[in-house]
Amino acid sequence: MAAPCFEITARDPGSRARAGVLTTAHGTVRTPAFVPLATKAVVKGIEAREVEALGFDMVLGNTFHLWLEPGHELIAGFGGLHEFMGWDRPIITDSGGFQVFSMGHGTVADEVKGRSPYGSQRDGGVHDITEEGVTFKNPRNGDTVFMGPETSMEVQAGLSSDIALVFDECTPFHVDRDYTARSTERTHRWLDRCLAWHAEHGPREQLVYGIVQGGVYEDLRSEAAAAVLSRDPDGIAIGGSLGAEKAQMYEVVGWATAQLEGAAETKPRHLLGIGEVDDLIRGVELGIDTFDCVTPTRLGRHGVALIPEPAKRFRVDLTAAKYKASTEPIEDGCPCPACSHGHSRGYLRYLAKNRELTGLRLLTLHNLVYLARLMRDLRDAIAAGTLAETAQALRGGAPPSQDPVEVAVPAR
Ligand SMILES: [Zn+2]
Repeated sequence: MAAPCFEITARDPGSRARAGVLTTAHGTVRTPAFVPLATKAVVKGIEAREVEALGFDMVLGNTFHLWLEPGHELIAGFGGLHEFMGWDRPIITDSGGFQVFSMGHGTVADEVKGRSPYGSQRDGGVHDITEEGVTFKNPRNGDTVFMGPETSMEVQAGLSSDIALVFDECTPFHVDRDYTARSTERTHRWLDRCLAWHAEHGPREQLVYGIVQGGVYEDLRSEAAAAVLSRDPDGIAIGGSLGAEKAQMYEVVGWATAQLEGAAETKPRHLLGIGEVDDLIRGVELGIDTFDCVTPTRLGRHGVALIPEPAKRFRVDLTAAKYKASTEPIEDGCPCPACSHGHSRGYLRYLAKNRELTGLRLLTLHNLVYLARLMRDLRDAIAAGTLAETAQALRGGAPPSQDPVEVAVPAR
């Protein structure tokens, strides 16, 4: 396809980790990088230029949600998603496959309606999966709607994202090997349809990533990686079920990235939906370049802050009663507004318990700043040849460097 969009600038001799620069039509992304979610054309609670000032180079928009509301045609009328949301740096859009295939699990209907995903009833969004695509009930109004590979690419073309992901079937954890194998093969046929549509109609400057599926089966993951590579997409995403626990997730990701070494190593690699602190460190060691995940921002909106304490899964739940009178900051020395402005855990707890917008915003800012610092440290360590020591320290509870993360120099 197009000229290589990714340059590797440093490698870690002890793992598959690499640092690099991903070049898109709207500037560059310093990798490895965490990509905050701008699901509905906004990083919840934060304006686009604030996201940039935190040191993030790219955000992820959601094809499914933006298709249903306000619609890609309306956004195209504004000149595309960058203009619509006031963000002139890179945007990656997911394909909508994950949301379409999650119908019936309740979470997508909850996302659409803005409900908490916790403890709500399943909505039972019935869907019909055929070779052509997927038919499902629009969780907004009950209408029957259809999304196939071409629909997804057309929506992403309308959004004018810098990186489009191909439409894939996202298999859940509980399906068996036979189903996973058949589904993975269909995903490859859909990959061909996505690339064919894009070659004819897609924006020339838009990069397209293929998606490696294959569930928790080593041979299927290897075959999927080879099949996706054979189509020569601009980059590779790793999706689908990665297992029931972290050890299995690392193993599955490792199978996929092992297949992407050698001649394919200059393809940028994106890991879908993974963003916990220890998973980001391990993912970088396994050779992942970019990550997206709802966790850091969603946790913030639920009163949970990231902290350098591995025994507590790197998080503190400020809604716990024991923080009621705490005068401590979330993290001493953290440069985020919540910590650097001297807000106490007790005050933030009170705000979060009362769903005060300012509290939810401050916790979101802290969590994003934490991940920006973490990824900066990992990038710097790869460049300095010290990733093993840095990763060990971060895993052990060392806080990421507390200097504010520099904003990337714009491409234009
Ligand atoms: Zn902070």
